[in-house]
Amino acid sequence: METFEQHYNSMMEAIRTYVPNTDLETVERAVQYAAEKHKDQKRKDGSPYIIHPLAVAEIVAEIGLDTDAIVAALLHDCIEDTSASHDEISRLFGSTVAELVEGVTKLTRVEFSTLEEQQVENLRKMFMAMSKDIRVVLIKICDRLHNQRTMEYQSRAKQISKSTETMDIYAPLAHRLGMQKIKWELEDSALQYLDPEGYRELVDYLDAHKAEAEAFMENVQKRISDRLASVGIACSISGRIKHVYSIYRKMKEQNKTLDELYDLYAFRIIVDTISDCYNVLGHIHEMFKLVPGRFKDYISTPKPNMYQSLHTTVIGDEGVPFEVQIRTKEMHETAEYGIAAHWKYKEGIEAGEGKEFEWIRRLLEDQKETDAEDFLHSLKVDMFDDEVFVFTPKGKVISLPAGSTAIDFAYAIHSGVGNTMIGAKINNRIAGYDVKLHNGDIVEILTSKSAKGPSRDWLNICKSNQARSKIKQWFKKEKREENIARGRTSFEGELRRMNISPALLQDEELRPLLLKKLSFDSLDDMYAAIGYGGITAVKAIGKIREDLLKASRSTSAPKETKVLEISQPFQQDRHSNSGVIVEDIDSCMIKFSRCCTPVPGDDIVGFITKGYGVSIHRRDCPNARAANNPDLAARWVNVSWVSGGEKPFATTLEVLAQDRDGLLLDFSSALTSQQIRMKEINGKELPGGRCGFTVTFEVKGLEQLTGVMNRLRGISGVVEVKRGQN
Ligand code: MN
Repeated sequence: METFEQHYNSMMEAIRTYVPNTDLETVERAVQYAAEKHKDQKRKDGSPYIIHPLAVAEIVAEIGLDTDAIVAALLHDCIEDTSASHDEISRLFGSTVAELVEGVTKLTRVEFSTLEEQQVENLRKMFMAMSKDIRVVLIKICDRLHNQRTMEYQSRAKQISKSTETMDIYAPLAHRLGMQKIKWELEDSALQYLDPEGYRELVDYLDAHKAEAEAFMENVQKRISDRLASVGIACSISGRIKHVYSIYRKMKEQNKTLDELYDLYAFRIIVDTISDCYNVLGHIHEMFKLVPGRFKDYISTPKPNMYQSLHTTVIGDEGVPFEVQIRTKEMHETAEYGIAAHWKYKEGIEAGEGKEFEWIRRLLEDQKETDAEDFLHSLKVDMFDDEVFVFTPKGKVISLPAGSTAIDFAYAIHSGVGNTMIGAKINNRIAGYDVKLHNGDIVEILTSKSAKGPSRDWLNICKSNQARSKIKQWFKKEKREENIARGRTSFEGELRRMNISPALLQDEELRPLLLKKLSFDSLDDMYAAIGYGGITAVKAIGKIREDLLKASRSTSAPKETKVLEISQPFQQDRHSNSGVIVEDIDSCMIKFSRCCTPVPGDDIVGFITKGYGVSIHRRDCPNARAANNPDLAARWVNVSWVSGGEKPFATTLEVLAQDRDGLLLDFSSALTSQQIRMKEINGKELPGGRCGFTVTFEVKGLEQLTGVMNRLRGISGVVEVKRGQN
């Protein structure tokens, strides 16, 4: 039987290893407190209950969370299962810990009674929305992980219901939080109970082929590391067999037997820089045969959970396919521990503030695979219009924008429900239409066939666009005369405010012109639209403002003057470098301009800068040409390359291409084949499925550069390759 001491010691070990700055005194107090509270409770296997909180705290420490989270993990079952209260915990351990424990308790109380497919996503979201602090979810996931690890003592029915929950709610959440390792373990453990035979069969198969697999992985690892060592790329490589559930799922999805199993193996290469990632990719594709359609660039387009890596699948000499993942150390940290790793970096900066995690929650709630731009966008925007999740009386979850009311709920169900609503019950009590809904509320709408329909006030009360547009729709249809009168009053009032006489609209020549600009067939149509709120009077007038003003005045507006922009000074910078002779100047500081990145062989000129030596440009650089200004003529000097220089020069190319799968791949392979090592690559998406990127690398001179450019132009999809000029 497992003992208190074993678990206490291994938890302390984890804390010392992963969270060395933990407040040990507080942890010690929490252990004592929890042990006292749980002292009469036993786990299903007969061991003391305190073992469970200790084990959860150990996992929490392993993923790098802070003292508050470790303490909260130790206390996480106290409120639910013992005499402890929120106030007592707050007094003894502070309000943050109390909030965390309270949050975990709330989640523990949620019963996922139905896990219908269309509901699980909402349940996951509700789960997130209920936890104000992301640490609550992280602790809850660790709690579930330990429950899965000790599931064998539960009844068969409980094993199945808990494992279903783990598979549908917890593993996807761990995935979205980017916690790869925990996700794998949750899935494998749940599978073990959901399909014991399938699980056993797979594990037995893998065990039987273990020696073979290890020899194979060792061989591949050695080949890759030898190759990368020979070109001077520092890296660490590891190989593994993919986790059981991912193999299982692929077998089911692709309807394959164990022997037909495709890529069982995954290798991970960790390097120092992003450009090394692409360089390594080039080498891998030279060494092994590529499986088409399997290359994924999650570096330029990270997954919504912040995961970054290059993925490719290749086939070794043995004919065995395997996946290779290439990433930097930072990307690796994020891949293993996800949000927790991110959280670790932010520790100390307002840690624990709900606001800080707002964007993370937003991000997680986003079901669809967002593209890189959206991803960055959601990182930047501080969004507070969170969602709220409420239940119908039958237990269906409805998601609404935060601040929503019963009106929003009614229209979310059906416009017919909204239009015949005469009242609402929240949690079984009659409630006003303007009462804001909270997560977990049960909402019931009372309707009547003789209802008069929505009231205009509802437009100010409701929060969702859906409700607003359905209400407007109703008014548009039901109340045309009223809308015309209302719209006309509003429109003419606005005209008078601008000192324009509404009589102008009666002008037979002007009116058709105005209506055409407004895209309405008649003034009544426009008034009706303003009346039901389809367009505002101000907006309508804005479209015809100039014409109205012109008609009401005889003078015309003075012409605006344009201010000419002063052209930007060109850049001078970069580390000093020689390899160039400046005419008439014996020794001076030389800088190569960043704008045109000249390389030996280029026709170059020098510009004497103020205090920074001579900056070298290509003669066809726009900055050099723009400087034809006679005032500056004296500062341009003739320069030439020193012959026979072997020093490599960094230069930049701009590439325009039709985007397609594997484009970057072909690109990096082409560079590798020319013995070119990338220093930097930046890409962006362009309209029409195109993409543009700038790539920086070192070359010996123009000849080599021309060779590279020609090679790149030969890649399918590449539209243009030119020297960088910015
Ligand atoms: Mn627990």
